[in-house]
Amino acid sequence: MNAQQHAGALYQAHDKFKEESLKNRRFKHADIKSLIQNIDKNGPIKIIEEGKSVEGRSIFHLKYGQGKTVLLLWSQMHGDEPTATMALFDIFNFLSGSSDAFDDFRKVIRENLTLHFIPMLNPDGADRYQRRNAMNVDLNRDAQVLEFPESKFLKAVRDATNADFGFNLHDQSKYYNVDKTANTAAVSFLAPAYNYEKEINSTRQKAMQTIVVMNEVVQQILPGHVGRYNDDFEPRAFGDNIQKWGTSTILVEAGGIRGDDEKQFNRKIHFTMLLSAFKALADGSYQNKEVAAYEDIPKNDRKMADLIIRNLTVKSPDGLKTMDVAIQREEVQNESATDFYYKSKIADLGDLSTFFGYQEFEASAFNYKRAKVYDQKLAKIGDLKNLDLNALLNQGISEFICPGMKESFEISSLPVNVHKSAEEVDIDLKPESNPSFFLERDGVLEYGIINGYMIQLNR
Ligand SMILES: [Zn+2]
Repeated sequence: MNAQQHAGALYQAHDKFKEESLKNRRFKHADIKSLIQNIDKNGPIKIIEEGKSVEGRSIFHLKYGQGKTVLLLWSQMHGDEPTATMALFDIFNFLSGSSDAFDDFRKVIRENLTLHFIPMLNPDGADRYQRRNAMNVDLNRDAQVLEFPESKFLKAVRDATNADFGFNLHDQSKYYNVDKTANTAAVSFLAPAYNYEKEINSTRQKAMQTIVVMNEVVQQILPGHVGRYNDDFEPRAFGDNIQKWGTSTILVEAGGIRGDDEKQFNRKIHFTMLLSAFKALADGSYQNKEVAAYEDIPKNDRKMADLIIRNLTVKSPDGLKTMDVAIQREEVQNESATDFYYKSKIADLGDLSTFFGYQEFEASAFNYKRAKVYDQKLAKIGDLKNLDLNALLNQGISEFICPGMKESFEISSLPVNVHKSAEEVDIDLKPESNPSFFLERDGVLEYGIINGYMIQLNR
């Protein structure tokens, strides 16, 4: 079986090994703690040690295999970047499996590699679903001073294992695209520099060669959806330092894919890509890859929006003008960080021909109409149910005032905006405001853009 066929077989098998208890991105430290405590003590995966976060949550160090080449993989240094953590638990299930078509492959891994894992390096951040740790510090700028226990733990495991290869597993913004294309950067890579001169020594070269292997796997699954970060040296970041300390370090960033908001498809890509990397490191085939192939991976750019309305006609004191409007959606989460709704904002407007939308709409036949505010105040949000929302939307009314409203998650299912006061209605066509407007053709409103979502009227 060649590398391509092998990756294909892993991809096909993912469903069998998928850790079903991790269903979406917002799992907690307790969820992975119970999974780790349930790992069979007589099985091939060993719990080596436990570190503690600032708030005392466990950080686990697990190990598999006893081969000569040592790998260290750590995920979720940023608490709201969970894709690789999900994939690691799928990989633990895979490595714990037996009596199937992958027995020989597991043996190759066990005998040639020693795998060290730190899933969820920042459990305090993960429980809040935020990037930073409990002290609101970005751990990826703490590699030099090592002020925080999470950073100390990663450094200590790196030093104790003296790993040959390190996998620094993150998620990036869904707004990254592959340079000059409408393709989202589903996965982005970097072999970080270890000095300002961006020199390539053998440590960094091996990281580049491994990335070439991983790039081929992602290209096989999702052609044209891989980006490469620029390699400016960041003296405080872990990837750059771990490269400097002699571990060939690979930064992997899980990005956006159309229709994959919860990143379950990207999780499958990660499962396939990481296990394929293990194969190439175990059998040494990564050494056949050229650094030039790493440099051929297109650059990352950050030019995506969730929705772009193209060529909308807008009135101005200087007559009718045409412009594109780009809309991005931000997640607003509840207090326990278990659920969220999207709040949209206008990211930019004007000539956005160099930008790309997850969704785009050609509006050259349409005029912009600002949304109107309903002229009566609501006593409570529930009163919306008593109104003929369809009729109001067809008149261009999408904004409601409810002075007594509390932060609510139930209203997000209705295609209207509710505000506490008229002063809070911030829907003008300008950057950062909440996009609420209508598209009119021949005097008739045909579409509403409400909180950044497009709805067809008269339906
Ligand atoms: Zn990150």
